Amino acid sequence: MKRVFPLIVVLISLSVLGIIFIQMSWIKNAIDLRKQQHDQDVEHGINQIRESFYDRFAVKNGLTFNDENSRMYYMKDFSANLLTEEEIRQIINQSLHRANVHNKYDYVIMDIFRNTIRNSKGFKNEYIPNAINTQITTENSPYKETLLLYFYEDNNYVLHQLGWVIAASILFTMVIISAFWLTVRTMFTQKKLSEIKSDFINNMTHELKTPLATISLAIDALTNEKVIHDTSKIKYYSGMIKEENKRMNKQVEKILQAARIERQEISLNLQQLDVHEIIRKVADNLELQIQEKHGRLALSLTAQNQIINADEVHFSNIIFNLLDNAIKYSNESPRIEVETLMNGNALLIKVKDNGIGMNKETQNRIFEKFYRAHTGNIHNVKGFGLGLSYVKAMVEAHNGKIKVESVVGKGSIFTITLPIV
Ligand code: ADP
Repeated sequence: MKRVFPLIVVLISLSVLGIIFIQMSWIKNAIDLRKQQHDQDVEHGINQIRESFYDRFAVKNGLTFNDENSRMYYMKDFSANLLTEEEIRQIINQSLHRANVHNKYDYVIMDIFRNTIRNSKGFKNEYIPNAINTQITTENSPYKETLLLYFYEDNNYVLHQLGWVIAASILFTMVIISAFWLTVRTMFTQKKLSEIKSDFINNMTHELKTPLATISLAIDALTNEKVIHDTSKIKYYSGMIKEENKRMNKQVEKILQAARIERQEISLNLQQLDVHEIIRKVADNLELQIQEKHGRLALSLTAQNQIINADEVHFSNIIFNLLDNAIKYSNESPRIEVETLMNGNALLIKVKDNGIGMNKETQNRIFEKFYRAHTGNIHNVKGFGLGLSYVKAMVEAHNGKIKVESVVGKGSIFTITLPIV
């Protein structure tokens, strides 16, 4: 999988580049073809002009002929002098139009001595080198008259003709690139998910193995001849089994709760709660753990209005998880402080610690399910990476917000904002 992934990215990138290259060369070919076609149209248009001059000349002079030879014979007398400026303009316009040439143009008709016979108003002498020269009198004519047609470049011409082809190619190329991007992104997400899954399985086995081992040892001890008659020891070991059992239950409950949140099956039993009371209760429960680590927990509950609408169990869990993390992710002796204060109509609860802290990337991701920072000695600390995602889901279910500020090596501050009653 590790090697297949970059290979797929390289192969798809190559094919996308190939497709773009082929499309560009197709479009270039199409543009060239269109230009060639345009040149042919112009040539056709000019022939038409000559023929239309002759036809007009014949009509004006009442000439009729049986075949092409006799026609050409009569045409030797044709000169642009015999047509009016208006007639010439009309003929050129019509002929070009019929030949599908729509460029703006100017023209001049000159005799053999380069004297102007007829010309359009806009014609300038500097156009002459770039104008198309066509003899309009016949081979056997005594006059030698040339039509010089100057076409103004129509930059939008190709775009008008091939606009939809170019737009469609750009559109489909974008579609291919977007689909490619989506595929790569999905592959990355899948990869991340599979890493998270194996991390989770590792964590779970680790978390359940320890209590199971302790229970197994306690049972061995209980069946020991010396212990079996000692009531105090039996009490001690069965207490141990009960404790470990409780711990395992808690872990399983955590996982089930995450699944319930996922299925949005959590219903809150809202009632008016005294935040300070709950914080004190949770703090009491954790007192032993803090003492074990030679830490200290200070409460600075100064908010004047501490009544909120909340679910007692979930709200206690929120505070418990934050304090539990503050203890878990600390070095030797944790200094933890819980503070409450008012901010307008909202109640702020701050949980501060002097623990290991987190970098910015970790701070951005800690509320994701299963996320655990993978640095330093955090590996030694057990957990599923579910605690904070639960906290966030629950705070939001109580219409609150949670944010974190942290400095690596210094500590972290989690701030919950809740609406008061
Ligand atoms: P768990 O503790 O089970 O890993 P959490 O969701 O509670 O899961 O926490 C997610 C991650 O956030 C932890 O693995 C840890 O890296 C980081 N973390 C949480 N709280 C703190 C804290 N107070 N100080 C430093 N890091 C923390």
